[in-house]
Amino acid sequence: MNCLQYIKKCYENLRQKREGQDESYRLSTQESELRKKKILVLDLDETLVHCEFKENQNFNYETILDVWHRGMLYNVYLCRRPHLEQFLKQMSVYYEIIIFTAGYESYCDKVLQYIDVDKHISDYFARSNCIFVNGNCLKDLAILDRPLDQLIFIDNNPNAFELQPDNGLLIPSFLDSDEDECLLRLIPFLTFMANKSSVKPVNQCLKEYETINGSLFGDSDITLQCHLDGEEGSLNEDSCIISDDVPQHRKTKTLMQHQSKGKQVQEARSQSLFSG
Ligand SMILES: [Mg+2]
Repeated sequence: MNCLQYIKKCYENLRQKREGQDESYRLSTQESELRKKKILVLDLDETLVHCEFKENQNFNYETILDVWHRGMLYNVYLCRRPHLEQFLKQMSVYYEIIIFTAGYESYCDKVLQYIDVDKHISDYFARSNCIFVNGNCLKDLAILDRPLDQLIFIDNNPNAFELQPDNGLLIPSFLDSDEDECLLRLIPFLTFMANKSSVKPVNQCLKEYETINGSLFGDSDITLQCHLDGEEGSLNEDSCIISDDVPQHRKTKTLMQHQSKGKQVQEARSQSLFSG
């Protein structure tokens, strides 16, 4: 992609966003109260929720959402990451919360209506705002029009951080474990970060925090999960609608195992057009 193509894509993304998005999540960038806060950008799939598009006896979903997309009705089986409600409520005190997902707008609208009843999330950016390069989904934080030294971006896919690596914080992937405590563990770290004049580079700040408080995610007490992505054709960031494969639900219990599985996941993701 050359420079002119990139600029045209950014313009097209912004135009589509203005024209196609749910009004209730449209944010005026001039809202002064939000401008005083730091910015927390959150991925959706496997970061805040896990969704599938057909029944799976291994998946403990909590609800089924009806999502209309391009004239077709999809059943979306959804499970929220544990402690999500508390996380959004407490973080909204310190941060303007924005979702940045590789899922389609129609899917994202419906999921946010379910997980964010109290409207702690101020805005979202979806698939039309992502850049797909060689099968990797890149998320350009520049299109958010926010100061990057005040912005933390949390995603379960490190490819998403490629354009602004100093803002990225990698979170273990979530499928459906009731024991997952990642969001709970993030609350004190993000509260710590809220008091900093600049949050960049996030990973350097994390090292500083972990020196005092211990590892944020990586001890043996928490259950970490990984799964392999399927084929393109899904409303969310990865698999399921076209693929006949049942997504694998695998739970690992140590950081070492997680890192090993994570490597497999990244290798699989790099082959998927819509990996997010
Ligand atoms: Mg994700």
